Amino acid sequence: MNFVRITFITLLTFYCYSVKAQQPFRVATAEANPLIPSEYLYLFVDSAASLSVHQVAELKEQFKPSSTEVPHHPVTKSNFWIHFKIKNELLFTKVLITVQNAVLQNVTLYYRTENDSFTAIQITKDKPFHNRTYQSQNPVFSLPSSDHEVLYDCYLLVNSYTELQTPVYVGTAASMLQKIEEKDYSFGIYTGIMLVIFLYNLSIFFIVKDRSYLFYIIYIASVAFVQISLQGFGYKYLWPDYPRFENMSPFLFSAFTAFTSIAFIRNFLQVKLFTPRLNHFLSVIFVLYAITLLFAFSGSKHEAYNLLNLLALILALLMLWIAIYIRKTQHTRSSLFFIISWGAFLGSIIVFVLKDVGILPFNNITTSSLQIGSAAEAILLSIALADRINVLKREKEISQAEALRVSQENERIIREQNIVLEQKVAERTYELQEANTDLNTAMTKLKDAQTQLVDAEKMASLGQLTAGVAHEINNPINFVSSNIKPLKRDVDDIIELLAKYEHLGSYNLPDDAKQYLTEIETFKTEIDYTYIREEIDILLRGMYEGATRTVEIVKSLKNFSRLDEADLKYVNVNEGINSTLILLNNQLGDRVKVNKDLGSIPDVECFPGKLNQVFMNIFNNAIYAVRKREGAAGLITAKTYFENEQVVIKISDNGIGMTPEVKARIFDPFFTTKDVGEGTGLGLSIVYKIIESHKGTIEVESEPGAGTEFTIKLPKSQN
Ligand code: ADP
Ligand code: MG
Repeated sequence: MNFVRITFITLLTFYCYSVKAQQPFRVATAEANPLIPSEYLYLFVDSAASLSVHQVAELKEQFKPSSTEVPHHPVTKSNFWIHFKIKNELLFTKVLITVQNAVLQNVTLYYRTENDSFTAIQITKDKPFHNRTYQSQNPVFSLPSSDHEVLYDCYLLVNSYTELQTPVYVGTAASMLQKIEEKDYSFGIYTGIMLVIFLYNLSIFFIVKDRSYLFYIIYIASVAFVQISLQGFGYKYLWPDYPRFENMSPFLFSAFTAFTSIAFIRNFLQVKLFTPRLNHFLSVIFVLYAITLLFAFSGSKHEAYNLLNLLALILALLMLWIAIYIRKTQHTRSSLFFIISWGAFLGSIIVFVLKDVGILPFNNITTSSLQIGSAAEAILLSIALADRINVLKREKEISQAEALRVSQENERIIREQNIVLEQKVAERTYELQEANTDLNTAMTKLKDAQTQLVDAEKMASLGQLTAGVAHEINNPINFVSSNIKPLKRDVDDIIELLAKYEHLGSYNLPDDAKQYLTEIETFKTEIDYTYIREEIDILLRGMYEGATRTVEIVKSLKNFSRLDEADLKYVNVNEGINSTLILLNNQLGDRVKVNKDLGSIPDVECFPGKLNQVFMNIFNNAIYAVRKREGAAGLITAKTYFENEQVVIKISDNGIGMTPEVKARIFDPFFTTKDVGEGTGLGLSIVYKIIESHKGTIEVESEPGAGTEFTIKLPKSQN
């Protein structure tokens, strides 16, 4: 009996305790909208997820007080029940209950006033968003108003494929709506920041075309979308009519974030290059994410969600590991930036988790830590990318400077080579010029030699001809000239004899003789005997003169050619001048007078034939010049005298003269001012050579229109 009593009292005590614990949460002010403290919340897990609210309500002793600030339960297929009581002390005022978790798939509030039956309000993600009474991303339930204080007995049923994180807020409609708005604002700020970063980096991508930027902007977009999805704003604003998509969105965006973060880290940190092994791990995770997605699509959402969380943890740590590894081995700046920004994001995850397990308080900052962390990460990474641009720019500048240096170096080398080349060219040019000069000299010599050869040949044949002619004529003309005197003597004798016959008339002669004499006299008259006698005289004189001149010419010819005198000889220059002038006699004609003033000069040692050639050329030119000069009577003067042990020969004319330009070139071979056929331009060059070979000098003075004078000076002897 006593035992029964003690047991009863104990049970009563327990009952009282539990009754005490089931104190209702009082809503007494219109402004407050607090998180219901954990001591008001009692939790029960229906593992089989089979019990109805009535059955659960019967199992009151199974409900245990919440051990954490916010009731939560890991991912499970169970039904999660939360029991609490609300006492609405405000009259005519509705009370709203909010579960601040937008990912929960099904949340149902069962409430009853004392002894009433349960009223159920279900908020599910299986229907379009607009079906909700309150257009909030979080489940919101309302308890009706009344004209008196009401105590509500509430059972909240939660089931979802996500974590059953269930913070329950309570307050009046006005204060609750204000709270919802606040959440909207803060999330608006977050999406605004992410959008700005997205657009900013998108525009940078278009400018710099760096692939890292592309991966980065896709990455932050997917990060933002994960948040948008988890916070329920996607469902509220973006795809309210697609509950199926809403249920898949956490998987899709998480996986997409994983893919893009893998792509980004690979590109940004050059993972493949620096650590191919860890890069393989990334590939493995990539594949696992894909498998997880398949799970989710095939309906195994609970398993998929668990896998997703595990993979996220592994990937986050792997990425940190990769960044630290690369930082340690490569010391790249981008790896440092990555560690910092990734660390910030991981830190925010840690804060988030610590809040969930009750180590950190449940407040606006801890609940928004993922948004804060991801925004911070996005900003830090964007700075990192900007820094990368700096690095690239610096590298580019360095490479440009290097390229400039190389091109300057090349230019310098080219310049030096140019100088060397120019020197070589100058040397070669000089050598060529030398060679050219040599060639010119050789050519001149050859021409001279040729000229001399031609001349020598010409003169030789001319000499032979004249010599031959002179020799042939010499004998006959000698007959003639030597026969003329005896002939004249004989003719004189005959004329004397005839005169004796004339005396016959004074004698008495027979008639027939007289008659014959008369006939003779008649014949004499007939033939004009007197004239004949005179004519014979004239003829003989003419023959004499002709023969004498012929002899003289022949002598001159012989003298001129002087074939017999190929060696040096002492001869008198006057003789040469005389015989040359005799040969030129017919060229002189009436119009040209020659004045000779040949002094007594010693013989000079010379090649007489050559010297005659000199006189011949100079006289020829003089004759040509005086003939060319119209109006004046031509006069050529030849003068010789002895002075300073030299024989001086001056041959002058009053011909057309020469300009200084002509005068400067007259001794050049082939220089002529005469028409073709009139001159060869060789005469004076030969003269010059001959005088030179006699160690003599030749000078010329000339005035255009006045005349020319050649002065030749020859040494007496050649030694
Ligand atoms: P060529 O008589 O065949 O022209 P030369 O060597 O004998 O060649 O003379 C060269 C040139 O010198 C002549 O063409 C002429 O212009 C000039 N010359 C030579 N002698 C005289 C002169 N006495 N008066 C004027 N010009 C002269
Ligand atoms: Mg001439």
